[in-house]
Amino acid sequence: MSLKLAAPICAVLFLVTLNAAHACENDFARLDADFEGARMSECVAKKHSFNIRIDPENTPINPSPWYAFRVTPKQPGELKIVIRYSDSSHRYRPKRSDDATVWRLIDEKRVRERRKGKKVTLRLETEDEPFFVAGQELLVAGTYQKWTDRLVEAASLRTEIIGASVEGRPLVAIYSDPKPGAEKKEHVLFLGRQHPPELTGSIAMLSFLETVFADTALARQFRDRFHITAIPLMNPDGVKNGNWRHNTNGVDLNRDWGPFTQPETQAVKRLADAIANDKNGELRLMLDFHSTSRNVFYTQFRDVETIPPKYTRDWLAAANARLKGRAFERAERHQTELPTSKNYFHGRFGAPAITYELGDQTDRRLIRGSSIIFAEEMMETLLASDPSLADKASPPNSE
Ligand SMILES: [Zn+2]
Repeated sequence: MSLKLAAPICAVLFLVTLNAAHACENDFARLDADFEGARMSECVAKKHSFNIRIDPENTPINPSPWYAFRVTPKQPGELKIVIRYSDSSHRYRPKRSDDATVWRLIDEKRVRERRKGKKVTLRLETEDEPFFVAGQELLVAGTYQKWTDRLVEAASLRTEIIGASVEGRPLVAIYSDPKPGAEKKEHVLFLGRQHPPELTGSIAMLSFLETVFADTALARQFRDRFHITAIPLMNPDGVKNGNWRHNTNGVDLNRDWGPFTQPETQAVKRLADAIANDKNGELRLMLDFHSTSRNVFYTQFRDVETIPPKYTRDWLAAANARLKGRAFERAERHQTELPTSKNYFHGRFGAPAITYELGDQTDRRLIRGSSIIFAEEMMETLLASDPSLADKASPPNSE
């Protein structure tokens, strides 16, 4: 996602806390934002309807207006809810869930966009039970924790708290260590959820990691050779608080890989330092999962050398051949000057470092299915690379 910011740090000046839980009610229902991931900045109950205002955590910010609230009906009927965005315009098609786990799109006939997406009216059928309305599925820290626990037990992995967010939430890394004895320590690194509303990237990441940590011959062979580090939830404060983009200090974490002003990026930098300071340590690949308007990989330019060489070309060709008509795009000309994770890890290690973007509206089955294919071909392609590849690169911003 692009963000028109001269420097990420300037956003701090505009930081305001807009995150208090709000609630309002009339004779027909009560609306609240008293749960993790909620965002409803103001709620006004009218006699027969509700007006909601959705604010970003601070400005300037990119156009990803996240909203999530709960409706507790008092009687069955049809409820009119008007959402207004104080910044930006409607991006996420509203979804509804009874349990915050299984979600379905709200029928387009019940959603009306006006004023160029600044205002959206929902007409929702209600029965007796409470339900959630949100821009995308809710995937919060507790869900990650349960998912991680299951994964760790199944694949004998280990986890470690590598740092804490601004508000003190743990930053959890999942590790898999290879068989001892290899001369080189070859690392792969997977990052997720720097940007809180980018759920489709998270869905892809979880199914990608399940494939890498699966009990298959390919995955076992991969884990025998590579040190795997995954940090699926880089911005736990932003996720908890329903942020559109930033961490609690109002900083876009994916513009902080260089300044390293934030504890969330600093924690991962320590892991990068450990690899860089280990004379046998080599980073072979970094993938960072996000969401945008389409399925696309932001990569290095084709003529830029990486170690392993031509990795991105070979990986994407192998996976896209299996995806046929649903192949993902490769975009090379993307913001090469910005302090993103992609530019940092490639600049420091010479490794292929790729932003893995899923479309906001990509079919969820395609997200899961394709991420399995990308994971399998990622493993095949890396296993085909020469373990004794060149010594550490010495690129411009290495330390
Ligand atoms: Zn993003």
